[in-house]
Amino acid sequence: MELNKVYIYKNNNKASAEAAEKFRDVMESQGVEVTSNYGEADILVCIGGDGAFLRFVHACGFPRQPIVGINTGHLGFFQELRAQHIKSFHRIISEDRFTIQKLHPVSACIVSSRGETTVLGLNEVLFRGPYTHLTHFTIQMGDTDIQDFSGDGVLVSTSAGSTAYNYSLGGALAAPELDALQLTPIAPMNTNAYRCFRSSILYPADMKLTLKASERTSRDKIEVVYDGLSGVFNNVHEIRITQSPITVDLIRLESYNYWEKLKSKLL
Ligand code: NAP
Repeated sequence: MELNKVYIYKNNNKASAEAAEKFRDVMESQGVEVTSNYGEADILVCIGGDGAFLRFVHACGFPRQPIVGINTGHLGFFQELRAQHIKSFHRIISEDRFTIQKLHPVSACIVSSRGETTVLGLNEVLFRGPYTHLTHFTIQMGDTDIQDFSGDGVLVSTSAGSTAYNYSLGGALAAPELDALQLTPIAPMNTNAYRCFRSSILYPADMKLTLKASERTSRDKIEVVYDGLSGVFNNVHEIRITQSPITVDLIRLESYNYWEKLKSKLL
């Protein structure tokens, strides 16, 4: 791949500022322009951790160009390069010694008093009541109502997001190439009054999931959180969740090994 222009995004820590300066110097010494307009770049470079990566993707509106992450954060599941790769980066790209990992965001269409609002999550979208209020949803998988859920809320994770909030809630770790979504309950009630599933449900990504708010819940506010961003909705009637047709292209080195990453970061 020909590399003429790159765009650099960084978070606000010292290590990221140093890495950005080094990356800029190396690119310019190798004849690659560093542009301040991400729309005209061949490759987008994101310096920070996974949190910075998520903020960058949302700020750029899920850009179409390939993105490469330089990790200066704690985990760095999305991030691929370390500072020592910077000098050889141009050669790796021009010799096509990389692969593209396609990430598929989850999309949620919230039908409320505002009309229909769609949000995307690269990691996840979650729906919960305000403060300590219970939420009551009828969960529909495809065309089948499977349960009247009562609890703090539910989270729908992508495979790439399975190592994030989903994992803390007891959800399964899903290999990133698994074309699936995962519905994970948040503090489900299990009493004589309410019986709710406790484990995650891993389901095919082309299946439609619908959450229908009960009358009680639709009178309440619902908070929708997607990759750490959030919005509050009144009179939510239903939420339709699908896999988005948009993809985010992530550059991976030939040495990329998901299982090694998982082992070193989580296990
Ligand atoms: P943030 O402070 O930017 O990120 C929170 C932590 O989640 C950071 O350690 C981050 O790693 C890690 N993370 C993000 N995406 C990940 C992934 N795909 N796999 C593994 N770890 C990942 O927080 P934020 O801006 O509020 O939210 C961003 C993300 O944080 C959300 O999408 C959510 O998944 C996660 N989160 C988790 C919990 C929880 O586990 N209880 C609670 C809230 C939010 P880096 O250190 O590399 O940035």
